[in-house]
Amino acid sequence: MKRDYYEVLGLDRSASLDEIKKAYRKLAMQHHPDQNPGDKASEEKFKEAAEAYGVLSDQEKRSTYDQFGHAGLGGNGGGQSFQFDPRQFAGFEDILGSFFGGGLFGDAFGGQRRRAGQGEPGSDLQYTLRIPFRDAVFGLENQQIEVPRLESCETCGGNGCAPGTNPQSCPQCRGTGQVAMRQGFFQMAMPCPRCEGRGKIIPSPCGTCRGQGRIQKRSTVTFRVPAGVDRGMRLRLVGQGEAGTGNGPRGDLYIVCDVQEDPRYQRDGVDLHTKQEVPWPLLVLGGKLRIETLYGEDHIKLDPGTPSDTVVKLVNAGVPRTRGSGRGDLYLHIRAAVPKKLSDEQQVLARQLLESLQTGDESPAAVTEEGLLAKVFGGHHKKSKKKRA
Ligand SMILES: [Zn+2]
Ligand SMILES: [Zn+2]
Repeated sequence: MKRDYYEVLGLDRSASLDEIKKAYRKLAMQHHPDQNPGDKASEEKFKEAAEAYGVLSDQEKRSTYDQFGHAGLGGNGGGQSFQFDPRQFAGFEDILGSFFGGGLFGDAFGGQRRRAGQGEPGSDLQYTLRIPFRDAVFGLENQQIEVPRLESCETCGGNGCAPGTNPQSCPQCRGTGQVAMRQGFFQMAMPCPRCEGRGKIIPSPCGTCRGQGRIQKRSTVTFRVPAGVDRGMRLRLVGQGEAGTGNGPRGDLYIVCDVQEDPRYQRDGVDLHTKQEVPWPLLVLGGKLRIETLYGEDHIKLDPGTPSDTVVKLVNAGVPRTRGSGRGDLYLHIRAAVPKKLSDEQQVLARQLLESLQTGDESPAAVTEEGLLAKVFGGHHKKSKKKRA
């Protein structure tokens, strides 16, 4: 039986990416084979944590796993297509470095395994995009950002060699890119130190990229922000990461959405919450109230005697779903609006109403509800049917 990935990392299902990273880092350090030479149980735990991390750190895989469990990821638990960006772990590369080059744990990080002569895949990049509240709700067709990233060198076409020269087979590893090495009980295949696992060396480096095959550039990337994105969501732009070396494929660019707060609306997934002030007589008498939603003007109907802490739900007036169709709902949290100041006349009327409520006298002489409210609140209620209380 495969253990639940959340259980492996000791997290609950609502864990953030940061918590996942932290949990994984802790387990990886604790169970790393270098710390526990020859300990099979640790080795298993280490691999298990790496696999769980590979799935839960990838938003798409994580949601597949959340819905379908291990079965949804296929027999290998997604292990074949791990994406792992070592730069997200500044200072961590050294610890993991001993297996990045392949060997014992190479298969767990298939994507990172370096094969001689094939070049390396470009790194994935991450960019945090601050999105105004309304743009997140309605989406943006042409969002542009400037991304500094490594691009293939145009002078040498990416092979790092000065014009007219070619790479040569590495004499130390005879072009295989790997050398055998003993470490504790393990016999490990390590990347060749001379050619760094490439299997090839560059006899005369290209002047533009100093033999690296890639140069740092600022590139403009244009993409669509779908309607309804929420804070923490990641958009994956395939092939917009860094250029690979040799024939290595480009990495991907992940856009992490950081949606700004709105003074009026509080967002809860696809639902919105807002406070809605209502003149207190309207709560007492009931009636129609004009309101604003993100999609324009609308109105709600209040029953006579509506309590001041009522919540009114407006179906489909929330945020569009990024998966599936339709929108969430808008919840209006009703608040009775009580005027701070009243005119002399309004004070008299309010006092009359209060006294009438306190004495239980239902009808103060000559003051109907309609007449009272029209005087106090400027005649909004003239249309309501005349009736004596
Ligand atoms: Zn070059
Ligand atoms: Zn070599």
